[in-house]
Amino acid sequence: MNPDEGAPEQGPNPAPIPVTRPSLPPLEAFIPYLQSIWDNRQLTNGGPFSVQLEQALCRHLGVAHVSLFASGTTALMVALQSLDLSGEVVTTPYSFVASAHALLWCGLRPVFTDIDPLTFNLDPARIEGAITPNTTAIMPVHCYGHPCDVDAIADIARRHRLLVIYDSAHAFGVCHQGGSVLNHGDLSVLSFHATKVFSTFEGGAIVCHDLKTKRRIDALRNFGIVDELTLEGPGLNGKLNEVGAAFGLLQLKQVDAAIQRNRVIDARYRAGLGGVPGLRCPPATEGGNHAYFALRVGPEYPESRDHLHGRLHRHGILARRYFHPLLPDFPLYAKAVSGPLDAARQAADRVLCLPIYPDLPLVDVDRIIELIVDP
Ligand SMILES: *Cc1c(COP(=O)(O)O)cnc(C)c1O
Repeated sequence: MNPDEGAPEQGPNPAPIPVTRPSLPPLEAFIPYLQSIWDNRQLTNGGPFSVQLEQALCRHLGVAHVSLFASGTTALMVALQSLDLSGEVVTTPYSFVASAHALLWCGLRPVFTDIDPLTFNLDPARIEGAITPNTTAIMPVHCYGHPCDVDAIADIARRHRLLVIYDSAHAFGVCHQGGSVLNHGDLSVLSFHATKVFSTFEGGAIVCHDLKTKRRIDALRNFGIVDELTLEGPGLNGKLNEVGAAFGLLQLKQVDAAIQRNRVIDARYRAGLGGVPGLRCPPATEGGNHAYFALRVGPEYPESRDHLHGRLHRHGILARRYFHPLLPDFPLYAKAVSGPLDAARQAADRVLCLPIYPDLPLVDVDRIIELIVDP
């Protein structure tokens, strides 16, 4: 390419800005943990770092019991398996594919109902209409870390004798009504994937309320083995290894600072984009983790969401269309629909998640804001 052609005035194009990026501790800080693993030769199977991390997470999150997993998806699968569910589970069409996949892996039928257009979470008013004699559970997602209407969902579950499993993959550290949002429902499932606010490279966890349930979950996480002669059920291998657990202990020391930094970026976006006609910022959450900034691009904005998405990408801003396509728009899930999904469909067509992560410089946030304000 001719270097004179279309060369931006400020020099070479800056590196692309991803939608999220893990913040890493200094490598030197990780070496002593590795040394300890090399010394004791315990690489997995509930080694010392896994035990420490489960306890540290209970304290940090303010929950009773945590079981670590190799991924959020295996944690979801075991959570569903542990509850002995059958038939249908009412869930949201507006999520990452892993939520619905976990249901299929457990032989359960997802039944999608519409979301609330403001919070992007399952609309409790729609759940009841989707309940049939075959329904055994509700699996909502705290979308973008915004707490679901947990009281209304608990009330529906109580009246219809249903279990509630929260996909809390986005909700690490989120507080609601004075405590952890993870304390709601029968089980809550976290993801510690590299793209999430707290990460163990790959990983996840189930939060539960009592030790008996934890023991069952822990057995199912390890092939269902209780002891040499006893199986709890058809378990799988879902254990988090010691390197991941050690990394988690290190990450835990800086996760509050990371969330604090995300909060500053969130506020910057709100200040810059809040008044722009056609744009709607996500609902502000007091105890949120600000891991996502889900901007809704309405019809009054001069460009469609997809045009804005394309334009930002051409400027190296890798904003993402989470969650598009809608789950029932995959042929695999086309039949899982109960009733209209207008709000979910609109969200899938209009929401754009902007870059937000602790190391994102504010000058870049301002550049992104400028590009959006000035189409
Ligand atoms: C990330 C995510 C998962 C899956 O977690 P993994 O750790 O990647 O397996 C499940 N549900 C939602 C909503 C997610 O965002």
